[in-house]
Amino acid sequence: MDSFYRPTRAEISLDALRRNLQAFRGAMPGRCRLMASVKANAYGHGAVEVAREAERFGVDYLGVAFLDEALQLRRAGIRTPILVLGFVAADALSVARDNDVTISLFRDDILAAAARLPEASGRKLKAHIKIDTGMGRLGVIGTDAAAAFIEKAFRVPQLEIEGLFTHYARADEADKSYTKLQYDRFRETIDCVERQGFKVPIVHAANSAAGIDTPEWAEGMLRLGISMYGLYPSAEVNAQRIELEPVMTLKTEVVMTKRAPKGWGISYGTRYFTADEERIGTLPIGYADGYSRMLTGKAYGLVRGVKMPIRGTICMDQCMIALDVDGTEGKPVEAGEEVVLIGRQGGAVITADELADQLGTINYEVTCMVAARVPRVYV
Ligand code: PLP
Repeated sequence: MDSFYRPTRAEISLDALRRNLQAFRGAMPGRCRLMASVKANAYGHGAVEVAREAERFGVDYLGVAFLDEALQLRRAGIRTPILVLGFVAADALSVARDNDVTISLFRDDILAAAARLPEASGRKLKAHIKIDTGMGRLGVIGTDAAAAFIEKAFRVPQLEIEGLFTHYARADEADKSYTKLQYDRFRETIDCVERQGFKVPIVHAANSAAGIDTPEWAEGMLRLGISMYGLYPSAEVNAQRIELEPVMTLKTEVVMTKRAPKGWGISYGTRYFTADEERIGTLPIGYADGYSRMLTGKAYGLVRGVKMPIRGTICMDQCMIALDVDGTEGKPVEAGEEVVLIGRQGGAVITADELADQLGTINYEVTCMVAARVPRVYV
């Protein structure tokens, strides 16, 4: 393990990760493959280590957003198939092929560029064709256009068309009518392609939300992202169906304590003044670590198993916390004591969902925000 000299860290429980993967493997229909989405540094959890664990677990595929993320994994020795879910440019196609990275295909000019690839001793570029069934992001719209695109793609000898997929826009909502509409459109395309006589080995549609609520609309592979990390995609999915365990704990330590007199200003702009004499601790974590300044006045940390408010403006590298913890029998909190900002301590918990609510965002963004300079410790 790399050494580091700051007490702030994101602890990543690989056991929890494995249990979350197992929960989905157990819940999905028998022949459904499993893709682990490790894009964006594995939603902040560390791409290489998470991919290694997913590979040990035996996932069928890894998903990333960009070719560079796929190459990082290949350089680290990951051998599991990798699909780039986002765009890969024409000049990078040979790099993808030579590193055995599968691309998503949805643009005519990229298809044409693939057809111009020089032969590489029989090696083909693997591709999954992306169909837009109502997400409006990437993909070919409409069954006829999709069928024509697929037919053209199958005629390109440099390509191996291994997959066909779509992405749901509202699978995390209680009302499934839009997801059903997307599924029906996707099914229509699949049926059309099959009628044309094309065999696509891996047809896939589901993200975490669909895996939890509507596994029957996953088709041949679940692309598991947020819930592999132990978080539910929204409060509207049926959490009873799959029990998850958060994988990340964000923790730090008190590095200075002080007894601030009544009326003492705390941090930039003195947005907090002590109401009385108050014990305040300084924490070596700030917005440059992904602990957003927008949490100012809202966030809490766990000290001795008690939820204590963060005081004053969150700085770039530091913030302050109230330390007059009830029930410590007069033993003041000292420098060196642990503070948990996301996760459990004793019987108390602060969830990524709670921070997401405070920030007006979703739990995905909270873990993704944890900056590269925060050491990840795998436990
Ligand atoms: N598939 C695609 C195309 C995605 O973009 C994502 C993530 O946004 C996923 C699957 C995984 O989604 P989730 O994290 O909601 O499981």
